Amino acid sequence: MASSVQKSEIDSELSKECEPWEQTNEIELGYAEECEPWELTNTYFPSKIGGRPAWLNLENIPNTDEMKCWKCGKTLVFLCQVYASLDISNDCFHRSIFVFVCKDASCWVNNSSQNIVAFRCQLPRVNKFYPFEPPNDDKKLPETKAMVNLCKTCGCRGPFACSQCKKVFYCSADHQKIDWKSGHKEQCSIQTDFVRKTTSTFLFPEYELVLDAEQIVDSTDETDEQSESRRLKEYDEFMKSGKVTDLPGVTEADLMQYTENVEDVAFAKFKKRIAQYNDQVLRYNRGGEPLWISSQNILPEQQVPACENCQSKRVFEFQIMPQMLNVLNDLDKSIDWGVINVYTCEKSCSSTGYVREFVYKQDIVVLLTVNCQHDFSDAFLDGNGRQIFCGRGPNSRECPRGTYCNIGAADEYAYCARSNKRLPSDAIIDAGSNAIRCGPEWNCGTLDAICKSDPILPFQYCAHRN
Ligand SMILES: [Zn+2]
Ligand SMILES: [Zn+2]
Ligand SMILES: [Zn+2]
Ligand SMILES: [Zn+2]
Repeated sequence: MASSVQKSEIDSELSKECEPWEQTNEIELGYAEECEPWELTNTYFPSKIGGRPAWLNLENIPNTDEMKCWKCGKTLVFLCQVYASLDISNDCFHRSIFVFVCKDASCWVNNSSQNIVAFRCQLPRVNKFYPFEPPNDDKKLPETKAMVNLCKTCGCRGPFACSQCKKVFYCSADHQKIDWKSGHKEQCSIQTDFVRKTTSTFLFPEYELVLDAEQIVDSTDETDEQSESRRLKEYDEFMKSGKVTDLPGVTEADLMQYTENVEDVAFAKFKKRIAQYNDQVLRYNRGGEPLWISSQNILPEQQVPACENCQSKRVFEFQIMPQMLNVLNDLDKSIDWGVINVYTCEKSCSSTGYVREFVYKQDIVVLLTVNCQHDFSDAFLDGNGRQIFCGRGPNSRECPRGTYCNIGAADEYAYCARSNKRLPSDAIIDAGSNAIRCGPEWNCGTLDAICKSDPILPFQYCAHRN
């Protein structure tokens, strides 16, 4: 892949005969770097994280229905895009892959990618949006304007105009509300054609995504004995420090599991591979193998669905690493993943706009105990859908109000369990026997209910009327 148009020209000279993913098995690593916002507009064909998407095709931008979370129906937020031109056809002279996610905590379910969408978009060198010659990097050029209206909040298609000023557009009523609060309220009545760009906390912070080849320093492979003693040492240090590694998305409980169970081959390999470049947020290796974070829930190649557009098989293109979570400023920790793998059409087939590609999310799933018959269905799950470990040791945590620490008679498990007896009698219960939450930000939806608070619960809940 190329990080700029010039580079893609050179690459095409060097590799005329072979398929691009056969040229080399070189892996490129992506890093998040601060950058001037103007350098990240579509005029410069950027790879970037956060902010608004820098759309490539400026006409057939996905419609609002395509931008909705499959789980909750809310509008997805832009996560990142990778500029990755290919030499396989004139069509791929410019080529970008876009990834969007849902920010809702309840949509992040282990090993489910229903709340993540990837789009592929490509253009020939001669096209109606951009000049034939690449832009000059040291000249400050404006963004290339889209031919359709874009939502002022999220930068996706915005078919709805503000009913008062008719100057700004939105994808949904939700995004109009967000923008109204973040400044449009004052701006709306001012008679000016200048529309100030606002940034709301809805968007992720913006960074350039800089790609650089992974240089493997070949360390002699350690023997089983060495690796065993290293793991024990790591485990000891971990127990002493009482805190987790730098890996976000890997909780203390995950680590306990992995250090105690001594071997998850994939996780050990994962840790070793990323250790040299610990701040990598993305791995690009089109046609290569993803780096799995766990031996569980590895997706076999045959199970990657074929391209719906041309029926060719899909190949692995890149993966988003858990380190990207570090730059998202997700304060309430509602978002979490192990790795997000993106697979794209092998032929990178042409289309008139944005083609949806395949995404697979792999997480580390904590199995509380291996050889125990206990039924954990009463476990209280935290915001990330995880059980809470409340046993002994540095990882022990207090159970949230309304739950209790359920400790096995032989000390084989300890987790925060719901005590249904303690739920208010008028609470409406969901399929998982939890009370349905509500609050100032969100009401009880379509339920015929009122939002109440109760001293037993740490949150407000939807209660039956009467
Ligand atoms: Zn969602
Ligand atoms: Zn929007
Ligand atoms: Zn307005
Ligand atoms: Zn295809």
